[in-house]
Amino acid sequence: MTLSALTDYPTVVLSPVSQGYAIATSSKILKTREELAAYNSEQESWNLQLARRYTHHSQLVGVLENLEEVPESLYNFFNFRLTPYIAQLMDPNDPDCPIRRQYLPTHHELVVQPYEVRDSLAEDANITGDGSSVVHRYPQRVLFLVHNTCGAYCRYCTRKRMVSNAEAAITSDTIEAGLLYIASHSEIEDVLLSGGDPLILNDRKLDYILGRIRADAPHVRFLRIGSRLPVQLPTRVTEELCVVLSRHNVQMVNLHINHPKEITNLLISRIAMLRRAGVMLGNQAVLLRGVNDSVTVQRELCMKLVEIGVRPYYVYSNDSAEGNWQFTVPLDEMNRIAHGLRGWISGPAVPTFVVDGTGGLGKMPVMPTYISQDRETGEVWATNYRGQQARQHNLETL
Ligand SMILES: *Cc1c(COP(=O)(O)O)cnc(C)c1O
Ligand code: SF4
Repeated sequence: MTLSALTDYPTVVLSPVSQGYAIATSSKILKTREELAAYNSEQESWNLQLARRYTHHSQLVGVLENLEEVPESLYNFFNFRLTPYIAQLMDPNDPDCPIRRQYLPTHHELVVQPYEVRDSLAEDANITGDGSSVVHRYPQRVLFLVHNTCGAYCRYCTRKRMVSNAEAAITSDTIEAGLLYIASHSEIEDVLLSGGDPLILNDRKLDYILGRIRADAPHVRFLRIGSRLPVQLPTRVTEELCVVLSRHNVQMVNLHINHPKEITNLLISRIAMLRRAGVMLGNQAVLLRGVNDSVTVQRELCMKLVEIGVRPYYVYSNDSAEGNWQFTVPLDEMNRIAHGLRGWISGPAVPTFVVDGTGGLGKMPVMPTYISQDRETGEVWATNYRGQQARQHNLETL
């Protein structure tokens, strides 16, 4: 189904004088383009910046042109949060700006495809069932969801069902149950803190959780954190945070950068702090229509990432949570983009493209085929990145 076939709502553009909403006003939000432009995110603590977030898209009428008015009912599904720092990255005029596409709701979100479901990865079914928020899908590793909100809400989020949902709040009891689960399951060798966003927690709470895992679960060999907050609010990365991460030997932090435009000087300087703390850095991007679904953008993103010391790790296909279809890139297109990277850019800059299977199958790589064997003749042929072919006699059965 094409995008236009489902465009049954007229697109209404909000104007600064729109009376469509009772705009929630906060003295802290930056209401005009001038105020926003003058704002220096480096000079305010990250907690204060969180308090300055936009909580309704209509609060951006004085900041962005061509802002779409969407039905209020959309907020029943998924809230809106945007940091002033991300608002500064948005093109004030162009509704197709890749940053705007990631964060601004459109009426398409209200259209739900028959195959789209709340929990497409069946994570809830893999939660351990003892009051914890540990997702135990794989034999030796777990996701530990430690917070249910994020710095800003991405419209394509796979965990919409819990992110920003007050009923899904993760309490200290939930965390204690998770810590007990991890401590009492000696097969767990790898713990990945996730959410929501774990770095919304303050340093003291993170220090506590990481410290408990290290003290009570010596079987955990690999401890990592997945967070988008450094991308949405780079000043969250402080020297104090780096001390906490190195104290507990957090070996890896996976970021979530989708477009080269997100790699600002401020982010680069905070990534350098994480590297000095001895943390291995990876990136998990999502392949999103109208954001990064081209070979050119992916090559530039991946090379920029290695340039700043971040290893492109995964590029996910967009999961089928409700209303996410507008971002979906079909498999053949995903394959074509993956094929455009190997051989063309540095080997370590090439990420693995993965599909996180609907129904909780787990992550499966999408691999262009380079080596193939003819079942009948047994001949092995190799095709390189340029399409040149040669038979590989040494790989055939004698
Ligand atoms: C992604 C994921 C992991 C981690 O997978 P890696 O391939 O090791 O990065 C672990 N558990 C769940 C449920 C996941 O979705
Ligand atoms: S940061 Fe991740 S969990 Fe949070 S809204 Fe974005 S995609 Fe969802």
